[in-house]
Amino acid sequence: MSRIVYVNGRYLPYGEAGVHVEDRGFQLADGVYEVFEVRGGRLVDESRHMARLGRSLDALSISRPMSARALGHVMRETVRRNHVSDGMVYLQVTRGEARRDFVFPDPAPQPTIVVIARRMDLTKANARVEKGIAVVSRPDIRWGRCDLKTTMLLPAALAKQSALEAGAQEVWFVDREGYVTEGGSSNAWIVTTAGTVVTRATDNHILGGVTRLTVLDLLAAEGVPVEIRPFKLSEATSAREAFITAATQIVMPVVRIDGQVVGSGEPGPVARHLRNNFHSKAEIA
Ligand code: PLP
Repeated sequence: MSRIVYVNGRYLPYGEAGVHVEDRGFQLADGVYEVFEVRGGRLVDESRHMARLGRSLDALSISRPMSARALGHVMRETVRRNHVSDGMVYLQVTRGEARRDFVFPDPAPQPTIVVIARRMDLTKANARVEKGIAVVSRPDIRWGRCDLKTTMLLPAALAKQSALEAGAQEVWFVDREGYVTEGGSSNAWIVTTAGTVVTRATDNHILGGVTRLTVLDLLAAEGVPVEIRPFKLSEATSAREAFITAATQIVMPVVRIDGQVVGSGEPGPVARHLRNNFHSKAEIA
């Protein structure tokens, strides 16, 4: 199957798709992105992802390249052309191409849009859920606007690489007070021994995950007690369960943190239940 990528109005073969060398996304990481889960060829939680994309663009004063409806059409077309049934679709918007300079180009260039669709092997993902994942903690050395989904991902890339080298599959960032902020590309959760589900509030220090919101909706609908507050690593390692959420992970159990076993050391029932029931609460269109 030859892959097709959308770039600035054209659907191009993967090997021929590209952006300008002076694209500000390439030069300055001056861009934002979204990752949507694809289920049965349909987009999961599109409205929430589009709302977050709009917030990220507005915060960086990048003009909206097209309506959310038109972007939705482009993403579905990219998914269709790549025959993706279960997988993900990646959307990136940068400020566009301009002679390299720190300040914003005036007049503003046309934003660059790239859409890539990719299949994911659900069997492999489910096998991973059966085992759960290990995480390691690292200092949160990122910037003060982690609430924006920008392409400035080097701190996350370095931390995730060091997690991989330590035999773990994700990193949990820890702030100066010792509280877990979030994962390298996921939100962090625990389930206390009393059965309360805990995740920290959203602010400038974490990305407000779309999956996090839908999981909170599911928990509310089922009357599960939830506390929105920060937690430290020590509380997480003595918790009954831990898990992460992200569009491409949905809900993934965490069974080891910095080498210490969480709960029984097996994926817990709350994380499994949330994963199995996630799509009953998500918008799928
Ligand atoms: N936090 C960070 C830093 C992320 O990169 C991501 C997703 O990539 C998330 C949280 C989870 O967000 P979502 O559930 O919208 O995928």
